[in-house]
Amino acid sequence: MPALWEEVMRDEHLIEYLQEIAKDTAFLHGVLMRTKETSNSHEVVSFAQFTLFPTRVPSTVFTQALTVQTHFNLLVDRVSLNPSFLKESLASTIKADDFTARLFNIYKQVQQEGRAQPIVLGLNRLDYMLDQSSDGVTCLKQIEINTIAVGGAGLASPTPDVHRHILKVANLLEERNHILDNNPAEGFARGLAKAWELYGSESAVVMFLVEDLQRNIYDQRFVENELWKKNIPVIRRRFGDLCRTGYLDQNRRLYVDGKEIAIVYFRNGYMPQNYTSEQSWDARLMMERSLAVKCPDISTHLAGTKKVQQELARAGVLERFFPDEPETVAKIRATFTGLYTLDMGEEGDKTVAMALANPDQYVLKPQREGGGNNIYGQEICEVLEKVKNSSERTAYILMDKIQPVPSQNYLVRPGAPVKLNECVWELGVFGVYVRKGENMAFNECVGHLMRTKSSEHADGGVAAGITALDNPLLF
Ligand code: ADP
Ligand code: MG
Repeated sequence: MPALWEEVMRDEHLIEYLQEIAKDTAFLHGVLMRTKETSNSHEVVSFAQFTLFPTRVPSTVFTQALTVQTHFNLLVDRVSLNPSFLKESLASTIKADDFTARLFNIYKQVQQEGRAQPIVLGLNRLDYMLDQSSDGVTCLKQIEINTIAVGGAGLASPTPDVHRHILKVANLLEERNHILDNNPAEGFARGLAKAWELYGSESAVVMFLVEDLQRNIYDQRFVENELWKKNIPVIRRRFGDLCRTGYLDQNRRLYVDGKEIAIVYFRNGYMPQNYTSEQSWDARLMMERSLAVKCPDISTHLAGTKKVQQELARAGVLERFFPDEPETVAKIRATFTGLYTLDMGEEGDKTVAMALANPDQYVLKPQREGGGNNIYGQEICEVLEKVKNSSERTAYILMDKIQPVPSQNYLVRPGAPVKLNECVWELGVFGVYVRKGENMAFNECVGHLMRTKSSEHADGGVAAGITALDNPLLF
């Protein structure tokens, strides 16, 4: 870190002053989140937590993550189009995990009936951390592929301006000038707009399927408002609204509250608690059967499961999706860390033994999204001891624990004093693609999401209040 910057970091009075300015600037630019206590209030709001300073990231690593994104878009899409791969990959998981089983059931029904809509829209985010091996070599490693209800594209868009302002006030002008532009909200909206155009009905709307509690609404509003700028109408509805007023006409067009739905954009439906009744499952099936473009459709949702991620890391699997493209395969594979099956049998037994012997080197992951579900350290042993001899273990996968190099930063959080923390960062990269039948009409990397958390926390999540929004400062 440059000397001047270090000096600023140590100047307590200046930090106190900067954090006040930082909070007000976050409000000015819309880096907002509703409070836990008033999750649906249109009047009471706070800022989404962020770092006082940007974080230095090697430019080679940043470029690597951005350049591989369009290949990952293709990979996710090709996985979603491969019923035998999905079936084989998830065969053991759906026996042990009820939620994945229900999703898979919907997938099977849609497959049998034949899909109504050839247009596919993917809005995904790939997450990475910088791993440092024992010999000091650092390497970009993938945490996971997210294909449903991907957050952060909205709030990532105004954060560059917040850091630019803080750095200007701190007189760190060189750093200020190197904060990257970033507007994934606009990129998401371009993908949604393309799919909406291809759907081809002027009066049809984009429906954001949202959660009952909407703390993170501003993240979505950024995308929503970009669509309105393009004169594309957006409505926000919940599962309950679909149960009450949703139906399919004889051509399987989806109507909700009397409006034709061109796109169902899932910002809900990614975890079991989202389905509060059998009716919500019926509603999911109705949407999947419909002519509306689903973002994601059920097969792309399944392509984003942790089990599929683990199967993709097996030797020879990427080659199935990119035959004759060894360079693409190599680029993708370079980002993989060790992923291990817990399927019943010899290979899975080996995984269990490995994890029990060195639990601190691994993360045990169930098929869940949204943060806070992974298992670390000694708890891995407790869980595995319970399930190791039964097929219950196949609900999980095991992954090498990435060991990032910590850096120092101040986390600015509502209701807590700023304090210097030892932090680790995670870089998300946003991918957008639109395909109609055989024709890939859009395939882009549309921006990034830099998040930083105190290294005392194993798991993350901006909405969970652990991770702070950040910006990469390339060097
Ligand atoms: P979710 O889908 O619930 O977000 P993730 O797989 O992204 O689950 O994990 C949540 C968080 O846990 C990540 O943001 C990261 O901070 C941490 N994490 C996940 N996998 C690893 C890993 N292999 N090594 C180190 N940390 C990890
Ligand atoms: Mg996830």
